[in-house]
Amino acid sequence: MKSIKKRLVFYFVFIIIITVAILEAVLIINIKQYYYSNLESTLLNQLYTSADFYEKYFSDATLEENVLSNVDAFWNQTTAQVVIIDMNGKVLMDSLGIMSDSTKEMEDVKSALEGQTGKWIGEIDYSTEKVMAISTPLHSRGQQVGVLRFIASLREVNNDIKRIAYIFIAFGVLVTLITGLVSIFLANTITTPLEEITLVAEKMAEGNYHIQTKKRRDDEIGRLSDTLNHMAKEIIKKEQLKNDFISSVSHELRTPLTSIKGWVITLKQDYEDKEILSDGLEIIEKESDRLSLMVEELLDFSKFVSGKITLNIKPVNLIKILEHVKKQLTPRALREKVDFQLNYADNLPLIYSDDNRLKQVLINILDNAFKFTPPNGKILLEAKREGEQIILIVEDTGSGIAPDELPKIKEKFYKGKSSKSHTGIGLSISDEIIKMMGGSLDISSELGKGTTVTIRLPLQEVVR
Ligand code: ADP
Repeated sequence: MKSIKKRLVFYFVFIIIITVAILEAVLIINIKQYYYSNLESTLLNQLYTSADFYEKYFSDATLEENVLSNVDAFWNQTTAQVVIIDMNGKVLMDSLGIMSDSTKEMEDVKSALEGQTGKWIGEIDYSTEKVMAISTPLHSRGQQVGVLRFIASLREVNNDIKRIAYIFIAFGVLVTLITGLVSIFLANTITTPLEEITLVAEKMAEGNYHIQTKKRRDDEIGRLSDTLNHMAKEIIKKEQLKNDFISSVSHELRTPLTSIKGWVITLKQDYEDKEILSDGLEIIEKESDRLSLMVEELLDFSKFVSGKITLNIKPVNLIKILEHVKKQLTPRALREKVDFQLNYADNLPLIYSDDNRLKQVLINILDNAFKFTPPNGKILLEAKREGEQIILIVEDTGSGIAPDELPKIKEKFYKGKSSKSHTGIGLSISDEIIKMMGGSLDISSELGKGTTVTIRLPLQEVVR
């Protein structure tokens, strides 16, 4: 595994090395130029002084004569190697005694023979160090008579430059080392919290959700840590809900099963009494219906959770659905002595929707209303068109929902504390269906007064 830490340190150090190297190269080149131009101007000064001196005081004799007799007098203030060349390029004098024929081929000498001061830097046969040579014309009574050439070794200057370069390089290495150490420290500040979070995440992956990550800073990693803790809390909550769900479903399934079993035992003993037999069979039938309804609901729910539900959209007559629901629930209203009313506007249009799913939602919501509304209470089912929306309202005068429960009741598996509460999946399925239809399901409630469920559906009117 390539660690982020190594990569970070590598990038930091790489950038520092490049920066330091460029900086030092520029500095060293500048220093070299400064030293060379210093040397050049010193040499030039001396060269011009000597050439002036020659023109002023040695113009009476020829260059050869002067070289033979007065030579020392006009160039002796320099420490450089001195060469005097006549107009044919022949070396008349060399302070080191090197009378090379190739001198006239040198750049600086060529310029000087043409009347211009010239400079040349390069290597010569008789020294291992580079040299700087400067040549200038020698005049006598306004006429050029030859060339005066000074050659200075660059050893001293190069040594000075090398020394400075070494100091710079050492400094650069030191800076790189220090930044390397600092970058390790910086990388640690990023990777240590990451490693800690990874450890915690691994433990969570093993199923330990009660462990928490420690947030160090309010940055991206801090957010990751918060998210992880939040996720663990959610998982614990969901786990709890699931367990509650399983136990409540088991409970719900057990009640009709117990009743069926009880009746089967009774009928086994006494199957001759016609009245008991018919009562018992009726109850067994009812309880079996209840069981299959519950199993149906559970299967439906699991399809929802795994996203396998699709809507069967076709033109739907809302009024028909409402009347059907009313017909289905009126016997229950009479039995439970609840005033159940249906109210709808006449101008309800045909819409595109899924009639079975719409019925299922209405029955779910009305079933809740019936469960939580005591005798003599009222339940109103209302439908109207509002602009580009269809509004369906189920209003009851039942027990209502406590404000702290209200935000949770649409969650999967959430069921109220009341003994009438079932599996806690009815509202979550209804909410999902309405969302799939592009609408919304809102619940408002006041404890002790009643509950209102409002469904808004987008109007996709069928043009007749
Ligand atoms: P359940 O199977 O428990 O009815 P739901 O998802 O349909 O599940 O409802 C969740 C919870 O919301 C119920 O357990 C109940 O506490 C509360 N609730 C829903 N509708 C009403 C209502 N009309 N009046 C009072 N409480 C309600």
